[in-house]
Amino acid sequence: MKITAHRITGITILLFSTIILPGSFAQKQASLSPFPNPKNVIIMIGDGMGFNCVKAAEYYFGPMQFQSFPVKLAVATYPAKVGAYDDKDTSKLNWAEGYNPAMAWKDSLYLRKNFTESAAAATALATGRKTYNNGIGLSVTFDTLRNLCELAKISGRSAGVITSVPISHATPAGFVAHNKTRQHYSELAAYMLFNSRCDLVMGTGNPEFDNNGKKLDRKWENPKYVCDSNLWLSLKSGSGIQTSFILKDKIFEVKDVSGDKIPDPWTLITSEKDFRKLMYGKTPKRVLGIPEVYSTLQQGRDFGKNETKNSPPFTTPFIAGLPTLAEMVRGGLNVLDNNPKGFFVMIEGGAVDWANHDNQKGRMLEEMKSFSDAIDTVVAWVNKNSSWNETLLIVTADHESGDLWGGNTYTPVADNGKNKLPALKYNSKDHTNALVGLWAKGKGAEMYSLMAGETDPVRGRFIQNTVIPQLIFMMWGRPVTF
Ligand SMILES: [Zn+2]
Repeated sequence: MKITAHRITGITILLFSTIILPGSFAQKQASLSPFPNPKNVIIMIGDGMGFNCVKAAEYYFGPMQFQSFPVKLAVATYPAKVGAYDDKDTSKLNWAEGYNPAMAWKDSLYLRKNFTESAAAATALATGRKTYNNGIGLSVTFDTLRNLCELAKISGRSAGVITSVPISHATPAGFVAHNKTRQHYSELAAYMLFNSRCDLVMGTGNPEFDNNGKKLDRKWENPKYVCDSNLWLSLKSGSGIQTSFILKDKIFEVKDVSGDKIPDPWTLITSEKDFRKLMYGKTPKRVLGIPEVYSTLQQGRDFGKNETKNSPPFTTPFIAGLPTLAEMVRGGLNVLDNNPKGFFVMIEGGAVDWANHDNQKGRMLEEMKSFSDAIDTVVAWVNKNSSWNETLLIVTADHESGDLWGGNTYTPVADNGKNKLPALKYNSKDHTNALVGLWAKGKGAEMYSLMAGETDPVRGRFIQNTVIPQLIFMMWGRPVTF
């Protein structure tokens, strides 16, 4: 009792001293503590979206909304180990050399070495730990790393991933699953659907359709992205009650996502109509959305007669009958916001990278537009259904790809006016170790400026990619056992 009384006295004195302090000092103190605690966290990743993709899209389409977010920083993307993990030959991995700002702007070949790929980058962005290239949610010693989707569920929030590429591709898989390599698509899909407690998974990989969204008249051949034929058939059966599934002698079971101890099966949607229906009104509890196309929403469609890699965007008409990434996002948010405790979602513009690998200028711009539209949809959702006082939105990239410049390396992308291709040149078909951008807005966004302790001579202050989830762990309160 005595101690309690003492404590009360202490608090009384503290409160009193706050009152008598000059106003400005008291305000400064209040803003430093405690950590902000955003109800909703939304991370949007342009896969392969380097600074010059953003510049090119800005020149072609006009300035994009995310470019004016209040927090703007650069991000170092290198992994712990470079090369590529291979089950049979682990000597292909070497410790990375980091990012050296002086070398990056002196030696034009420096950035083309020691780069990350999307699995290691997603692991860093989801778990706060750098790992080896191709690793999904595992450390360099193969320990399981907890990710933001798992933390969201532990904290009572909902969790999900939305992408314009297959659901089990490296970026979405890295936010949900754990596997030695990104190449195990079927296992990753099975993990996402049966081991994770995610409320929402949306992306391509529909085995009944080709890259042009044409229904296959033969039996599908490669359903790897959504696991295997048996799983796809049982999902399609519409019963929605399958709770366990056997793959390679492992039993996968659906989890309870809502905490009532009753397993929650997936509701599968595939048609454009169902995606649009999901945007407003009541939604199913747990949604698996697989649009009717195989590789990507639009980037993987065949080139029309008049299109080349240097053609402007939209030269070949889009595949009809598919939702846009923005529509998927609108529907996904309508599922996730059913939870009054909030949510975490990772949204990926996944095919910017695919266009970069193929050095397709126009298709890269199409993908940038699709991603920017998805960001606008998120901003509109926050303005209407939430507020910047409870939601944190981060837009970033996992790495640069294509070594894209205006001409030769270091030549800026040159503006040729709206709706005209800017001066652009790809110098690589692979990733680079270049810094990428971060644009943040909303609750806790200013925390990222606080962490930007390094400076690049051209890109300015930068953080490590691992800081992005680390700060969310701190703001949300990471459990001791996590
Ligand atoms: Zn790539």
